[in-house]
Amino acid sequence: MEPALYIVATPIGNLGDMSTRARSVLAGVSVIAAEDTRRTGQLLNHEGIDTPMMAYHEHSPSSVAASIVERIAAGEAVALVSDAGTPTISDPGYRLVRDVQDRGLAVVPIPGPCAAIVALSAAGLPSDRFAFEGFLPSKTQARQRRLEALASAPATLIFYEAPHRLVACIEDLVQAMGPEREAAIGRELTKRFETVRRGRLDELAAWVSADADQTRGELVVMVAPAPSGSAVTLDTELVTLLRGMAEHMPPRRAAKLLAAYSGIASRDLYELLSGSQ
Ligand code: SAM
Repeated sequence: MEPALYIVATPIGNLGDMSTRARSVLAGVSVIAAEDTRRTGQLLNHEGIDTPMMAYHEHSPSSVAASIVERIAAGEAVALVSDAGTPTISDPGYRLVRDVQDRGLAVVPIPGPCAAIVALSAAGLPSDRFAFEGFLPSKTQARQRRLEALASAPATLIFYEAPHRLVACIEDLVQAMGPEREAAIGRELTKRFETVRRGRLDELAAWVSADADQTRGELVVMVAPAPSGSAVTLDTELVTLLRGMAEHMPPRRAAKLLAAYSGIASRDLYELLSGSQ
């Protein structure tokens, strides 16, 4: 195989989702860098692949990434896999990708399942524009702040969430985005108890609270875009920041810069500034 780092997506539940290309790359590389060698070992065993593995995870010292880069520089093909889904998406690997690229070596994506996209594809929410927000902060205050900053985003929001935090997450979403905002939950996707449910946030809150099964397994939470023309609610810190910025630059520029950071439409921010002057 051509020397390169191959970013190989693996199934997120249903082993039938392993692609032919993923299988042949994993069988053909010199070594597989795996987030959890035990877990990947089970997949390789199922596929009848006996390629050697090495551990590469969030806490790996930089020497591990360096040794992978050296192996590719010496002409080897190396695959990167995470526990499930697409490596680097809420999973380790993006620094390794940079290290390999910075050395002038090839990085080859081998596409496959990604829970965020799988969930979005079956949610029935607008998908022409979406923002992947990964995991929300686990501390309540930080989580609520993040949600407030996202409340006016003109795109469907996608979150990964731990099952034991689902009820609190939906309650915080109701608080930040209002009970009527449409949302969806994708649970145990591609697996036996796969469930995709769309509804208003208050309906979803009642549903998950009434059925303990809905807080088991793996979850993706999605929230529909803010209705257009909806009142912009900004937390005090953002408003202070916006006004502070507008003292040092034209209001339109301040609105544009903060829009890129907050996900709030630049027009709404500009109107807020005009109204406050
Ligand atoms: N890199 C992975 C991907 O491409 O989807 C995501 C890794 S992240 C550490 C794991 C999170 O993805 C889980 O906590 C859950 O939120 C989501 N997830 C993974 N598999 C899932 C599934 N089968 N159904 C629903 N959500 C899933």
